[in-house]
Amino acid sequence: MIICPSCSAINSNLNATCSKCGFLPEKVDGFCAFYSELVHIGGDFKSSYFSELARLENANFWFRSRNHLTLWFLKAYCPNISFILNRALELDVQR
Ligand SMILES: [Zn+2]
Repeated sequence: MIICPSCSAINSNLNATCSKCGFLPEKVDGFCAFYSELVHIGGDFKSSYFSELARLENANFWFRSRNHLTLWFLKAYCPNISFILNRALELDVQR
């Protein structure tokens, strides 16, 4: 389900185009951005921090626990999540 940021219509299909108003999200850096004006707002968080975080995630108990809990939640409460993510990737590739 996607709530259109333009008209607030609820779209049940995973097609990114709104079936009510035709809103089509911009692509930013190859990704759909429903709120493109927010893409580069990050406060004081610099994009260079991501590589350091990625390096720390594999060994840090907090990140490992968070990732484990996130996966458990998605498997327990969103059993179709892999289908949804795969379908979203297919739609993104088709653009
Ligand atoms: Zn709409």
